[in-house]
Amino acid sequence: MTQPALSRRSLLASLAAAPALLALPSLIRSSSAEAAEGAPANKQSAVIRRRVGDIELFALADGFSTLPGQVLLGLEDEAAQEAARIAHKPHDPAALTISINTYLIRSGDRLIAVDTGATSAMAPTLGAWRDSLAEAGIAPQDVDTLFLTHAHADHVGGMTDASGARLLPNAQLVLADAEWAFTHDDALFASLPADIQGNFRFSRAQLAPYAEGRKELAMARESEITPGVTALPMPGHTPGHMGLRLDSQGEVLLIWGDVVHAPAYQFSRPDWSIAFDADIPAAIATRQRFFDMAATDDVMVAGMHLDFPALGFVERHGNAYRYLAAPPDFRA
Ligand SMILES: [Zn+2]
Repeated sequence: MTQPALSRRSLLASLAAAPALLALPSLIRSSSAEAAEGAPANKQSAVIRRRVGDIELFALADGFSTLPGQVLLGLEDEAAQEAARIAHKPHDPAALTISINTYLIRSGDRLIAVDTGATSAMAPTLGAWRDSLAEAGIAPQDVDTLFLTHAHADHVGGMTDASGARLLPNAQLVLADAEWAFTHDDALFASLPADIQGNFRFSRAQLAPYAEGRKELAMARESEITPGVTALPMPGHTPGHMGLRLDSQGEVLLIWGDVVHAPAYQFSRPDWSIAFDADIPAAIATRQRFFDMAATDDVMVAGMHLDFPALGFVERHGNAYRYLAAPPDFRA
């Protein structure tokens, strides 16, 4: 892995000192606040609906934000330029613009929210999730399950309001046991710098009103949430990072959470990890494994930081991979 340039070191050193665990929201706040100065709020709800066999799936936009490119560890300009060319994405190593997406699954009589996006307090271009939910025709009280891929702030921002009230009043929280433990680890918390503690505090406050009656899934294995919807361990980004496999009538979709943060680069360079991956070797191994699985089995993938609507396919390309956006689904 190429060493980051000197100018990147101070940022990366501060991330490394903080095991980088929940640093993302701070960076989103600082970088987007600069970018947004004087600019009008640009919060856009958006909904894309499709079927996975008998399962109805909604991709719900929360918005987008910009991060300094240095958070992608190993990024080397020439290779990055080539990766961006293959991805048909702009190459801007100074500013990595990423989508924040969520999904909603309707299967039988179940209505399952998958993550809840960020908040507009983090950036004016974020926090559209509730508008997207309304646009999909879903009332928050009808959501019976909230599955969290993990508890980073850009995934838990829409579940609880500033007064501490649940925004999904009837939803049971479902997440990995390792994620609950990690987020509530007081010894770890005490060892973190103040701004990172702030991120943990935010995540804890968002989770708190759902603590009673929550369901913790064993991180070590797959767990069925409802027939055709299975939680899969995808460790690395956080200790309890999980995704979902939807499987109905021969159609399969993999929702892989935060396996990819930089779609311009990581399909060509799965070995480039984001600095917020808690366990970088594990995150790289998980990324390689699910790229290989998606390409080999030709299954559709969805991800919280792929470009909205973030539904597509992974193809082999040379020694690596390429992302292909899915065509729309015109079925009712
Ligand atoms: Zn994320």
